[in-house]
Amino acid sequence: EYKDMSKERMMEIRRQNCNPMTMKVTYYKKPVYIHQGHMQWLWDVDGRRYLDLFAGVATVSVGHCHPTRLQKVTAAAEKQLRKLWHTTNIYVYSPLHEYTEKLAATLPDPLKVIYLTNSGSEANDLAMLMARLHTGNFDVITLRGSYHGGSPHTMGLTSNAAYKYPVASGLGCHNTMCPDVFAGPWGGSNCRDSPIQTIRDCSCPQGSCTANDKYIGQLNEVFATSVPSRIAAFFAEPIMGVGGAVQYPKNFLKDTYKLVRERGGVCIADEVQTGFGRTGSHFWGFQGHDVIPDMVTMAKGIANGFPMGAVVTTPEVAASFAKGVHFNTFGGNPVACAIASSVLDTMEEDGTQQISHNVGTYLLTELAKMRDKYEIIGDVRGKGLQIGVEMVKDKASRKPLPPAAMSEIFEDTKDMGVLIGKGGVYGQTFRIKPPMCITRDDADFFLAVFNQALHNYMEDHH
Ligand code: PMP
Repeated sequence: EYKDMSKERMMEIRRQNCNPMTMKVTYYKKPVYIHQGHMQWLWDVDGRRYLDLFAGVATVSVGHCHPTRLQKVTAAAEKQLRKLWHTTNIYVYSPLHEYTEKLAATLPDPLKVIYLTNSGSEANDLAMLMARLHTGNFDVITLRGSYHGGSPHTMGLTSNAAYKYPVASGLGCHNTMCPDVFAGPWGGSNCRDSPIQTIRDCSCPQGSCTANDKYIGQLNEVFATSVPSRIAAFFAEPIMGVGGAVQYPKNFLKDTYKLVRERGGVCIADEVQTGFGRTGSHFWGFQGHDVIPDMVTMAKGIANGFPMGAVVTTPEVAASFAKGVHFNTFGGNPVACAIASSVLDTMEEDGTQQISHNVGTYLLTELAKMRDKYEIIGDVRGKGLQIGVEMVKDKASRKPLPPAAMSEIFEDTKDMGVLIGKGGVYGQTFRIKPPMCITRDDADFFLAVFNQALHNYMEDHH
């Protein structure tokens, strides 16, 4: 019988032997000591149950320890562990081929060549390298406020001070202004009132909103001032994740892709959070923008929490990369492939994309009502189960709600049994990205809890 270590002992070890960052920043003031998970639920060592609406940052895609039916995730892992754990992919083994064929089928042409990695940072690193080799150019552009990884190269793609270190990193990486129609300087008055669009529906009267042009103007300034005339790549998530579920004006990605390609660059969609049906209407977030990238990177939900990542690209880009030998010891190992394959099957059998659409739209709609009720909710946005609730001091200023206030609401929500996330450059956005097995009842439970937490905060401070 497995027994958890005592909380005191865990903290002692954490102070002495664990990553000190995690000691400085325990996510909650009173840490949550997790014992076990089951679908959308987590239990702590004292037996308290939490509704998990953060899913290890959109990672647990089909549910913790998915239990039902033999072929599902846990069973697939067990079966593979008994048969073959590892050889390196210099040999040929079935799970890798079964999986890559299945994954390729979810992507449109010409995105058919897959490289398996062990994390999102590794996938983005590889994508950056491939883009440079393919184009013969060096400079890469990302959106300000984005997160694309923590390795030295991807730290340059990432644009958030919290994740930066004062070392030489990300040479050749540049940022353009994030086209945030709520907190940015430009955005039509109707942008906030359409919470259920991937691309906000830009419903301002024809010609009255020029936000997209203005943000594209910023990109043109980056082209004019910061990079050579030809560039290697542009990276963006279809809906920004760590940055706080920021959605871009209609056509922003489409226009950007065109400009990037005119300068010889490739376009890369980071689907680490938005992929695998999370946005509800589409399996891949980029499909909601009417674009086809040259490369797609993915991780997190790909294997429901088992370490795995991937770069998917075109035969043309792959050919440029084939000039050297690419090797990755653990990338595409049989266990990860068996799990990821079972995750794809489970997504189909359980209809997780449809759940994302249904429950996500319901949550967005109800949260939008709360936005209209509470002065401190500035914006509700996202799509499917990739949701952000931007908290403000007041609606007029749109200034971020300060960290102490965010923390109060966040802790209170946890104490009432719901785990959510925080994000945004100023930590001002609550993030909801649950396992895609949640129900409408779970959504109602969260809405009641969140409403109570906001009510408590308002009672205490206003
Ligand atoms: N891209 C995005 C959009 C992410 O959210 C993350 C992780 N938060 C990464 C890349 C990096 O993934 P990993 O932590 O697996 O390296």
